[in-house]
Amino acid sequence: MALSGLDIFKLLPKTNCAECGRPTCLAFAMALAQKKASLEECPHVSDAAKQALGAASAPPIKLVTIGVGPKALAIGEENVLFRHEEKFYHPAGVAVSISDSLAEPAFAERLSAANQLRFRRVGTDIQADLVEVRNDSGDPARFAQSVAKAASQVDLHLMLTSTNPDALKGALTDEVAARRPLLGDATPENWQAVAALAAAKKCPVAVRADGLGALADVTEKLKGAGVTEMVLDVTAGEPRQTLENLTRVRRLALRRTFRPLGFPTIARAPVGDPHNEMAWASTFMAKYASIVVTQSTDKAQVLALLTVRQNIYTDPQKPVQVEPGLHPVGEPGPESPLMFTTNFSLTYYSVEGEVEASRVPAWILAVDTEGLSVLTAYSGDKLNEKVVHQAMIKAGVEEKVKHRKLIIPGHVAVLSGKLEEETGWNIIVGPKEASQIPNYLQTQWKK
Ligand code: SF4
Repeated sequence: MALSGLDIFKLLPKTNCAECGRPTCLAFAMALAQKKASLEECPHVSDAAKQALGAASAPPIKLVTIGVGPKALAIGEENVLFRHEEKFYHPAGVAVSISDSLAEPAFAERLSAANQLRFRRVGTDIQADLVEVRNDSGDPARFAQSVAKAASQVDLHLMLTSTNPDALKGALTDEVAARRPLLGDATPENWQAVAALAAAKKCPVAVRADGLGALADVTEKLKGAGVTEMVLDVTAGEPRQTLENLTRVRRLALRRTFRPLGFPTIARAPVGDPHNEMAWASTFMAKYASIVVTQSTDKAQVLALLTVRQNIYTDPQKPVQVEPGLHPVGEPGPESPLMFTTNFSLTYYSVEGEVEASRVPAWILAVDTEGLSVLTAYSGDKLNEKVVHQAMIKAGVEEKVKHRKLIIPGHVAVLSGKLEEETGWNIIVGPKEASQIPNYLQTQWKK
């Protein structure tokens, strides 16, 4: 049962020393109750209080790490149901599932395709995170061979999925175990053997059972056997039931602090129509899967899913920004076109992509609007003639561009007069939409 802020306050030193970064012990207690602070931030908590508060102050959803090193995938430890309340902290993993019953070379081709699901979008590298090897063949030797191939051919994290503990044991060689794969499925039938294996090899465990009640029973048993990191596979026969399971698990964990289900989750997108698969995968990503498993290795489809993830796991109060300043596209010179946009990364990279597509080398001045888009910044007076002029001075535009012409976004054509007066440059109103830029640069600018 979660403790209230006042319950927690009673156990704190009440000296209001502010060393925890909060002005009073009460403020710290409230932050702790809302899971916005950690007990370690107060250096004066007594051992007795630590014991009493330890469990209550633990995150409602356990953090689970798959893989090792700086690229390990950390999932869970989320505090809110809705990202606008705070933000989502640990981006869901995208797993590509591959059956060990596939014959060569199809198995190797799928591995290779999974390994190539890497993209660069709005200045960030994004990619699939895991390869799941499924023991569909039922043959432990074949499963071990397939896992060994996956481990040697891809640098993605590994999910080993079999309900046969012997198959898992055979596949979990020292080399594979060193990569700290997700091991599963632990079920009501096999949990003891899987727990022993996971504890011996220090791997996180995927858990599956019919219904959330049975799932909670298994996690409690695994916990009793020393397994601390678990991921709950809540996939049901019908995708809408999977969605309901995801939502119920998140609500129970956060609203009721129900520890047996306080773990990250796995949801498997339904197989069949690829568009339907991605639609469900994206839905699961939004609510609230920590790992979304797909069969698809189609770049366009997986990019769509990764784009959804990128959007959901940004801080809604902090727009993603690019470095303000003058950015060359191609190899522009003093007579190349100069245009400005804002430093909101989605806007900036839309413009940059279209300038690149035009094959006309150009300069883009990213004006610092605290990450707001052109119209939003203009409406909030974060984008005006003075701001643009200052950005030009700061970026040393005069030294790099000699024609003294500045192309401005069509949406803020209204700025042109004041900007011309402010800068003394010739202001040209450019296209309203980024997609019109190539045609504009190839035809209008050359005139
Ligand atoms: Fe109170 Fe501890 Fe914070 Fe000091 S550091 S104000 S004692 S909670």
